Amino acid sequence: MAHIKGYECTICNSQYEGNDILHTCPKCGQKGILEIIYDYKKIKQSLSKAYLANCMDYSIWRYSSLISIDPGRRNKYLHVGSTPLYKARRLDEMMGFKKLYIKDEGLNPTASLKDRASIVAVADAYNLKANTICCSSTGNAASSLAGNAARVGINTVIFVPKRAPIGKLSQLLIFGAKVVVVKGSYNDAFEMSQKAIEKWGWYNRNAAINPHLVEGKKTVALSMAEQMNWNLPDWVVVSVGDGCTIAGVYKGFYDLVQLGITDRIPKLLGVQSDGCCPFVNAYIKNKSLEPAEENTIADSISVGIPRNPVKAMRAVKNSGGSWIAVSDHNILKAMKVLGSSEGVFTEPAGAASLAGAEEALKIGIIKAEETVCIIATGNGLKDTKNAMEAAGKPIYIEPDINELIKVIG
Ligand SMILES: *Cc1c(COP(=O)(O)O)cnc(C)c1O
Ligand SMILES: [Zn+2]
Repeated sequence: MAHIKGYECTICNSQYEGNDILHTCPKCGQKGILEIIYDYKKIKQSLSKAYLANCMDYSIWRYSSLISIDPGRRNKYLHVGSTPLYKARRLDEMMGFKKLYIKDEGLNPTASLKDRASIVAVADAYNLKANTICCSSTGNAASSLAGNAARVGINTVIFVPKRAPIGKLSQLLIFGAKVVVVKGSYNDAFEMSQKAIEKWGWYNRNAAINPHLVEGKKTVALSMAEQMNWNLPDWVVVSVGDGCTIAGVYKGFYDLVQLGITDRIPKLLGVQSDGCCPFVNAYIKNKSLEPAEENTIADSISVGIPRNPVKAMRAVKNSGGSWIAVSDHNILKAMKVLGSSEGVFTEPAGAASLAGAEEALKIGIIKAEETVCIIATGNGLKDTKNAMEAAGKPIYIEPDINELIKVIG
């Protein structure tokens, strides 16, 4: 059981007691995204290095005392979490890093980091006896919701923008979701979902609004820290769309400091595509976010109007980190090099983190002696169209050994 002290609104700073499960600030409505505040003193009694060393549950529920929703019986869920952390074997030297780690989130059950959030939404909806969950998504939030909900027997209605890659769309349909393709931007899909949720009273899995989802996402940081034996890297690099993932990463490291398990938070590098970079623009201009174009192949981070700007900006600032934009061209290059030199196949939004780390090293944001962990947020098989752009061409021959000798040499 998690021990929650209460909630604090990220807009008006109102505080609420933790007895009820809240989703938004009662005063501010939909804009009032809440931060969940834990009772770390109490949590310390159940969560420790020793506890984790002996814990046989390798799913995210091994951290359940730090997750705001009670999962109940755990075997009703898909297995989310315990994704591998690799120390790079070639990429570090190739790119000039002292030490580079790759957290491969594409190995979650529906193949992205979003499973960490969706499973918490599903647990909450299950506890509330909701029979339908709704969300809008560029793809992964939706496909992971559909999969995790299917496992526990809850219906899903999903609003997606027209550009959703076919891999993600097929996942949705296979998982039995009702899929509504909105002919417009991600923002149009988002607005439609909000209207539908209001009208039919469905459970809302829109990550930025629902504070419990960041609590699921933060388990990626808990897992990473544990796999590094609590010796944290200097930098953690995360691609950013709505901003919930990077906010979650921060929260995970923050929790560990509060519990006295670690003593610092790694610097966070938020990465966006230069075709859609409202956070980077706001950081450079030192202003609040302005709507941006959605013009990138990295569909998972193509979010012109991010829904979690406060938490995300705060996370990067408090960590002493930075923001960077990279070109789609460099994202595709990073995708290929990550696959061919380490065997990790990630979608464009996942490869953006590597492209961002490389660029940050080049311009001196990351120093050569610093250690870095990139998060490969989603599996490359979700978007084979862009993968083929990055991959190059196969060799075509007639079935003739002499032809083969010519091309193999
Ligand atoms: C959702 C997503 C992101 C970004 O997460 P936000 O919470 O939207 O910032 C990055 N990569 C992948 C693969 C994603 O699905
Ligand atoms: Zn408020």
